[in-house]
Amino acid sequence: MELLKERILKDGKSFDGGILKVDSFINHQMDPILMKAIASEFVKRFSDLNINKIVTIEASGIAPAIMVGLELELPVVFVKKAKPKTMSDMLATQVYSFTKDRTYDVCVSNKFLNENDNVIFIDDFLANGNAALGVKNLIDQAGANLLGMGFIIEKSFQEGRDRLLNENIRVESLVRVKTLGNDLIKFEE
Ligand code: 5GP
Repeated sequence: MELLKERILKDGKSFDGGILKVDSFINHQMDPILMKAIASEFVKRFSDLNINKIVTIEASGIAPAIMVGLELELPVVFVKKAKPKTMSDMLATQVYSFTKDRTYDVCVSNKFLNENDNVIFIDDFLANGNAALGVKNLIDQAGANLLGMGFIIEKSFQEGRDRLLNENIRVESLVRVKTLGNDLIKFEE
């Protein structure tokens, strides 16, 4: 997606250690016009599927996911990163965070995700695939059908895509970043 590549080159900040900061338009301050274009691109790429629900994970997946849900007029369920005391019937698993270097609980209510659901998962980044595989675990526990996963930015030098493909998951990334270094950002062709 050319518009997104241009914006990453203009406003993204890359760091040694393979971290890309996009907090002026995705992760902290958000650009709703860009987010709308991102959602339309996801809708186009998944247009062959019969989806009835969008799944994402808090917090940064919520904005793109709700824009996709708006365009498709479908409900959006976000996986929570802490188990609410007031909710029973929660499905739970654990995820290791690459950026925070710690493991955390993720959960979703069986009320909002079950065997009647055909879902796509939308998130901001695909790095090592831990968040995505954690969500897949919850989707499997719920008995729902996972039709594909969409990421705004994939870091193709990390192993996420291969791990998801190994699980036979369809992966759609709007841009694929090949190299990140101090002030260096290169995309896959
Ligand atoms: P994974 O679980 O695939 O290793 O990492 C995905 C999650 O980590 C994403 O949801 C995102 O929040 C965060 N993440 C991974 N790499 C980056 C990065 O380079 N920049 C930012 N802003 N977040 C990242």
